[in-house]
Amino acid sequence: MSLEQKTALVTGGSRGIGREIALSLADNCAQVAILYAGRKDAADETVRELEKKNVKAMAVQCDVSDDAAVQAAFKQVKDAFGPIDILVNNAGITKDMLTLRMSAEDFAKVIAVNLNGAFHTIKACYRDFLKLGWGRILNISSVSGLMGNPGQANYASSKAGLIGLTKTVARELANRGVTVNAICPGFIETDMTGAMNEEVLSKAVAAVPMSRLGTPKDIAKAAAFLCSEDAGYITGAVLQVDGGMYM
Ligand code: NDP
Repeated sequence: MSLEQKTALVTGGSRGIGREIALSLADNCAQVAILYAGRKDAADETVRELEKKNVKAMAVQCDVSDDAAVQAAFKQVKDAFGPIDILVNNAGITKDMLTLRMSAEDFAKVIAVNLNGAFHTIKACYRDFLKLGWGRILNISSVSGLMGNPGQANYASSKAGLIGLTKTVARELANRGVTVNAICPGFIETDMTGAMNEEVLSKAVAAVPMSRLGTPKDIAKAAAFLCSEDAGYITGAVLQVDGGMYM
């Protein structure tokens, strides 16, 4: 798997799964950019870790739900690193509440970040991918998007939507050397699951046939493969990395 000269961009690369994906892509890319929402300290830390791997790295603060901000951030990255070869849409948020009590604002906000955000970034690279005749797009969805999950009408809808987006763009770009895939993580140890209370978390683990939470590395290894040259005949795929939760 050789991507030596490639540039990768990972949204939500400051922490958790996105940071680990950025680091795993750094093993094979020359340049890695991350976008983050507001945690500059965490983003700077990721950049330092990337640089230790001898890649050029940069972090740009950008709310992916804001189309104009995304286009500006991509311009900044492309001015510094040239066209983006590998795009990983990982930025995501939750605002859980039973559907009856969920506000329209919280429903819309989660869709705006998790789903519209990926649409914005894909648009920002689409022409470059056509010109390059090569590309990798990877969208981080969730088992919630496949199974549904009580309290996550907004999140599960956004993640199911990402699967539709993945398959559509995969079809559009299939004969242009660009693959578009999705990973559906199960429960992964990050700040996102750290916010769950003990009881909910132990119920979650009980639902995993492998009886453990996943790690960001579990996702990053699958992500690195799907973004590699070796995965060139895989497109439109939805890969669960969930310890067997959804089968
Ligand atoms: P974290 O909460 O640990 O990190 C979220 C990342 O997204 C941070 O880098 C954050 O930036 C960034 N982010 C949040 N909102 C925005 C925004 N509006 N614009 C740009 N960046 C943003 O999440 P995880 O690592 O746990 O999750 C990563 C992805 O994996 C998400 O899409 C999530 O839905 C998905 N996933 C996670 C699972 C889990 O169990 N953890 C399970 C299934 C899917 P900042 O640091 O600046 O806040």
